[in-house]
Amino acid sequence: MKKSKQTKGLKGLSLTIKWALASSLFIFVVFTVFAIITYKSSINLFVDKERKNAEQTTNEAVSRLANANRTLNLVETYRNLTNSNNGENSIYDRTSTIEGILMDIDPFISDLGQPAVSLYVYNLDEELVFKTQKDDLPLEQTTLKKPTIMNVKGETGFITVKPIQSKDTREIIGYVQTFYELTSLDEIKQRLLITLFILEIISFVLSSFLGYLLSAYFLKPLKVLRDTMEEIRKDPQSNIHMPELHTSDELADVAEIFNEMLDRMRSYIEQQEQFVEDVSHELRTPVAVIEGHLRLLDRWGKNDPEILEESLSASMQEISRMKVLVQEMLDLSRAEQVDVHYANESSKAKEVVHQVFNNFKMLYPDFLFTLDDDLAQEKTVRIYRNHFEQILVIIMDNAVKYSTDRKEVHVTVSSSQKMLEIAIQDFGEGISEEDKAKIFNRFYRVDKARARTKGGNGLGLAISQKLIENYKGTIRVESILHQGTIFRIGLPIDTHETKR
Ligand code: ADP
Repeated sequence: MKKSKQTKGLKGLSLTIKWALASSLFIFVVFTVFAIITYKSSINLFVDKERKNAEQTTNEAVSRLANANRTLNLVETYRNLTNSNNGENSIYDRTSTIEGILMDIDPFISDLGQPAVSLYVYNLDEELVFKTQKDDLPLEQTTLKKPTIMNVKGETGFITVKPIQSKDTREIIGYVQTFYELTSLDEIKQRLLITLFILEIISFVLSSFLGYLLSAYFLKPLKVLRDTMEEIRKDPQSNIHMPELHTSDELADVAEIFNEMLDRMRSYIEQQEQFVEDVSHELRTPVAVIEGHLRLLDRWGKNDPEILEESLSASMQEISRMKVLVQEMLDLSRAEQVDVHYANESSKAKEVVHQVFNNFKMLYPDFLFTLDDDLAQEKTVRIYRNHFEQILVIIMDNAVKYSTDRKEVHVTVSSSQKMLEIAIQDFGEGISEEDKAKIFNRFYRVDKARARTKGGNGLGLAISQKLIENYKGTIRVESILHQGTIFRIGLPIDTHETKR
């Protein structure tokens, strides 16, 4: 039956690791998206800039060559290309600084000097008349106005083709073709990728590490809770409590709730142990009495009819006491489960009170019973009929049992809006202030010696109180020693039923 497992380790990853992993995964995804966007927009920016450069160089060449003669040849082309003054619409901003003038650098020419830029000029017959690079390049198309990415001899770059329109005649006299090699594109792509990759790795490692540290810090109290629970599991008898966490968060709440549960559980266990102890104590006396009588009979008593008779009747008496005790203990334990089994039961107040009252009147003719019934009409109370009767019988029985000279019991029934109130008054021995607090405890009897003669086990009031509390009612006692006692019971009225 023993199900307890030995020290339970974690079955999976610890919360700290899970949290660290989740946070770094999240950061990884976010960073990857960010890296892709950065990569794409950087490359686009670079390509756009290069495209503009390609277009600019082509336009400048076309504009300079517009001054050329009808027949384009090498000399003519060279003269026009290098003579920027002819290009009135030059978009190149010639430097006017002293250094610039001294060096006399034409930015267009210096552009052409770059190995990545190739310029080709063709005459009307599409024959190559001028080139800035060693290799020839046939005219792609006669018009390719926008720079277009193409692969030329294994190199990627922008090809632009524009016709040269003579300034004077407005006729087309040849074509300019430029090839703008995107040499650094692959390099930039590679560098960007490596940088982003390194950054991504760093962010992943850092976020995992930080996530781990943070979760370890925040979940530290959880570990304390777990360890304490483990200790309690190993030794349930111990008096260990959850330490106070001082974090005023959910975990502190958990610790507080756990401590409350622990206290309640320990008090239940204590009650249970006390109960078993009380029961065995209560049963010990009748068992000892019966044993004594049986031994007596066994030794010699059985031969004496008088002793035999006396012992048998005493034993029978003890056995019926034990029967009552067992029944009462059963009633007490059942009273605890009222809310589970009898939650929807109800009974008629007037009917039950009158019936119990009449029974007592019949059973104890030497007593004066009075019933003051203030209920104008029948009321339904939310309690199972047998339990209602049981409570009334216990209290009325006590009233009779603990009456002295004045054998009178007064019963009053009245009602407020939500509660039925019953008062049962006797004029007997009364209860001292000190005992008032204890009479509802199990097995408590004010006068133990006399109680045996009166047959009480000290369970009646405990049963009544448990039942009444479980039906959400109230029970109070008012008493003056040697003058008498009033028990006041309140039971909830079923308002829906009563209105019908
Ligand atoms: P018992 O079976 O002994 O009557 P109860 O639980 O009914 O057990 O009562 C507990 C104790 O409370 C009794 O032993 C008695 O001392 C005291 N008691 C209960 N009712 C009265 C009463 N009406 N007048 C005086 N004492 C009472």
